[in-house]
Amino acid sequence: MTFICGGRPQPEIPPSSEGVVILPWVCPSCDGTGTWDDGLQCMLCGGRGAVNEEDLGEWDRAELKRTPIPPAVMKTPCRDCAFRPGAPEEDEKPPADYPFYCHHGMPVVDGAYAPTAWADGKPLGALVCRGWWAAATGEDLPAEAYRPANDGWGRS
Ligand SMILES: [Zn+2]
Repeated sequence: MTFICGGRPQPEIPPSSEGVVILPWVCPSCDGTGTWDDGLQCMLCGGRGAVNEEDLGEWDRAELKRTPIPPAVMKTPCRDCAFRPGAPEEDEKPPADYPFYCHHGMPVVDGAYAPTAWADGKPLGALVCRGWWAAATGEDLPAEAYRPANDGWGRS
């Protein structure tokens, strides 16, 4: 499968047994271009321009730059983010190997979040939790303590 972006074929996304693929680092070998100076496809990132920890091997971590955060991820962690200190989920955080979605704007039915549209097992239009993104990419988790929203269901 080839993904098209701006009319240019993009390299394939690598398969993942965990169901989620995140490339949090700009490829240090080609500086994110996907090709080396001689025009050949970069062997470290396979032409994707970005890499994950497994791709990096022995590469010097001090040279790494973060890739841009996808637009589907919340810009900042919510004040009642599950990944804040003191959150109800603090002792059992959502697993990093499957996307976790921000609850803001989601309907609640019988005490549970109930998205009204789904595609491929994912809630359509829901944004990914910023705290989850930090956990899944090895960033520091939100430092400020959890503060519940006014109605207890994430609506402020
Ligand atoms: Zn590269």
